[in-house]
Amino acid sequence: MSDMTPITVARGDGIGPEIMDATLRVLAAAGARIAPEFIDIGEAQYLAGYSSGIPPSAWDSLRRTRVFLKSPITTPQGGGFKSLNVTIRKTLGLYANIRPCVSYHPYVKTLHPAMDLVIVRENEEDLYAGIEHRQTDQVFQCLKLVTRPGCEKIIRYAFEYARQHGRRKVTCMTKDNIMKMTDGLFHRVFDDMAAEYPDIETEHMIIDIGAAKLATRPERFDVIVTLNLYGDILSDIAAELTGSVGLAPSANIGEHVAMFEAIHGSAPDIAGKGIANPSGLLLAAVQMLVHIGQPEVAETIHNAWLRAIEDGVHTAELYGSLSIGKPFGSMDFADAVIERLGFGPEKIQPVAYAGHPVGSGSGGRPAERQAAQRLNLGQVVRHPPALKALVGVDVFVHAPAVSADFLAGQLSALVTPAFVLQMITNRGVKVWPAGFAETFCTDHWRCRFVAANGGEVTHADLIGLMQALAARGVDFIKTENLCTFDGERGFALGQGQ
Ligand code: ATP
Repeated sequence: MSDMTPITVARGDGIGPEIMDATLRVLAAAGARIAPEFIDIGEAQYLAGYSSGIPPSAWDSLRRTRVFLKSPITTPQGGGFKSLNVTIRKTLGLYANIRPCVSYHPYVKTLHPAMDLVIVRENEEDLYAGIEHRQTDQVFQCLKLVTRPGCEKIIRYAFEYARQHGRRKVTCMTKDNIMKMTDGLFHRVFDDMAAEYPDIETEHMIIDIGAAKLATRPERFDVIVTLNLYGDILSDIAAELTGSVGLAPSANIGEHVAMFEAIHGSAPDIAGKGIANPSGLLLAAVQMLVHIGQPEVAETIHNAWLRAIEDGVHTAELYGSLSIGKPFGSMDFADAVIERLGFGPEKIQPVAYAGHPVGSGSGGRPAERQAAQRLNLGQVVRHPPALKALVGVDVFVHAPAVSADFLAGQLSALVTPAFVLQMITNRGVKVWPAGFAETFCTDHWRCRFVAANGGEVTHADLIGLMQALAARGVDFIKTENLCTFDGERGFALGQGQ
């Protein structure tokens, strides 16, 4: 039928098939207009020889439907299997990871009953580019890559998400007091974009104090946008604080494809028993329905689910004094949600994706908390390239058991008319000229050469420098060009410079 949206569905491993069957049962009963296409990914595919756990036919389906509802999968132990999630995320450009973290007090134990926040995590860049090298005997390196289009995409997403979900505040977290260029770019883009959203309150926090505040007063946050690594850590802290890791969904959104899943794993310890809680996947499916433009179905399911939780319909791991009857199995839980379709919670605030209050409860989300159909993200604007000038080079040198002064003497004696040695750092700290004897030095030296005439150098000059270094037996391991962009320095000073 034409109004059916095709979606790709993976039933996964462990408890995956059980929670997927329960989820699809609720979706069908609620009238979700979806046409599932099932793919096999995960353990069996790894063992069949697909090193990333996903066969070519599965990619075909994903590229056709562009919407993926995924159960947890098991990565076999050992054997160097690649993470399926990382492969899917990177291959399909799923740049935004969205994690709502909500408390369901008193039905789920938590110290933070008023917590209701969403973490918007950049998903492709930062230290996760996976570019790592052992450079010397002692030193290992991981490159942190942050791009302007990457920052613009994720920050735009956070603001649009906030606006369309009626959220009032976006908090940006970085460590730009230390990483002035990479994290500094993220912060700058945030500040620039904030001006386009005067209806939304904005703030910036340094990640360490931000994480501390999140852990102690999570209710003060609404939407948090941050870089990949910080987001990874923050979203686990936040999910844990709600006390309901087993209930939490996650969405991975790209320009072309989106993937929806529970945050928990395949729970092999309870697989096949029919007792797993399908809530994380069901709430992921709710996010999916909003994404594909069926907010009214999403809202009906979400409110029925809230009502079930409130009524004491609890699976075994939530079972407690507020639960009714015996612990519900996965399918019984699904049926209990289905019975409540059309009803909302009475004590917990109902959700309103479709822009109208539901349920018989008091309160309700603010009227402006309206539907997010597909977000209005626009196109990433490609800025005209800045005028670049090459003004020097950092040469990284492997030199064990030498002093900075000795190395400086050796390098200063090079015949390189184009360059002068300006400084040497060790692990970023200036050790020449005028270093401190107390600074601990490794075998890894960054030697900064700048244009002797105070202006520009050429690539041919760089090659001349490399040849001079090689002729003197200097073990250079890498170079980084020093450039200015529209006259602005494109490199950090050494600490102490
Ligand atoms: P992974 O590395 O894949 O995340 P894991 O073992 O670290 O796996 P989970 O698979 O999420 O983490 O399981 C952690 C614990 O939570 C297990 O005891 C599991 O039974 C329980 N658990 C996870 N998901 C559910 C669920 N949906 N319903 C009930 N219990 C669950």
